[in-house]
Amino acid sequence: MMQWAIAATWPFGQSAVRVGSRLLDQGMSGLDAVEQAIRAVELDPSVDSVGVGGVPNCEGEVQLDAALMRGQDLAVGAVAGVKGFPNPISIARLVLEKTPHHLLVGEGAERYADAYGLERGPLLTASSLETWRKRREKQAQAEDPSLGGGHDTVGVVALDMNGDIAAGTSTSGLALKLPGRVGDSPLVGSGFYADNAAGAAVGTGCGELIMRGCLSFAIVELMKGGASAQQACEEALNRLICRLEQCLPVRNATEDMTKMAVLAIDQKGNVGAAANHGEFDFAYQTARDRELRIIRARIIA
Ligand code: ASP
Repeated sequence: MMQWAIAATWPFGQSAVRVGSRLLDQGMSGLDAVEQAIRAVELDPSVDSVGVGGVPNCEGEVQLDAALMRGQDLAVGAVAGVKGFPNPISIARLVLEKTPHHLLVGEGAERYADAYGLERGPLLTASSLETWRKRREKQAQAEDPSLGGGHDTVGVVALDMNGDIAAGTSTSGLALKLPGRVGDSPLVGSGFYADNAAGAAVGTGCGELIMRGCLSFAIVELMKGGASAQQACEEALNRLICRLEQCLPVRNATEDMTKMAVLAIDQKGNVGAAANHGEFDFAYQTARDRELRIIRARIIA
């Protein structure tokens, strides 16, 4: 029997870790734990970058991306640009288990969810609408012409009692994004990766940069080569920073559109994390040490 462990991005990942820990402790699979953990965050309207209450795109609509990966067989289920479903992670689960495909987008994903009777529901809240209006005004006045402020992802990595590893993500993506924009979070190898042979990783931050380095795959490959979860996160992120800084100011990032962070777990449940800014905290709990900890990631400076 392995000792379970689970970690989730950002302090709001605490609720994910709490739900996931309980399930892992009951002997449930890492995949179930990650799905249920993410559902808890998706349904929390106070988390303004995931599921209900997530940030709307430039047309005021919330379009969600989510993904799940199973480390036993590298199976993936992902959805992108989904509207009207509070729990896109459960559509991703259906894609993983019931289809021969790995990624469904937009209307196709929504129709598939309807066929399985997944619950529809409103995603906009009074507060997300208000924030959207203010952002649009600012943008129109060209005070802040940039896209993207105020984005995050709940990314969860878990090891279960059978030694199986899983990863999952869910996000509304960048604020004021163009309709149809897809970030790193539903892209296998970029926003998430899980392989029982080494561990799992997830990313959060500017998806357009994370996907340029296929960061999650890079981290898992480094762990496969013998790096610890911490070494792998630092090495993969530093390699991407070194490459990108030749053309972009990505070291010691201060702008939302250049911030990146990664979180990984290894086959023993040890975690690692790194960011190119000083604001990335993650939540972590293990069977060994039952205390839910909030940990600040190492900064790559
Ligand atoms: N990576 C997400 C995206 O680009 C956003 C985030 O995690 O901050 O859609």
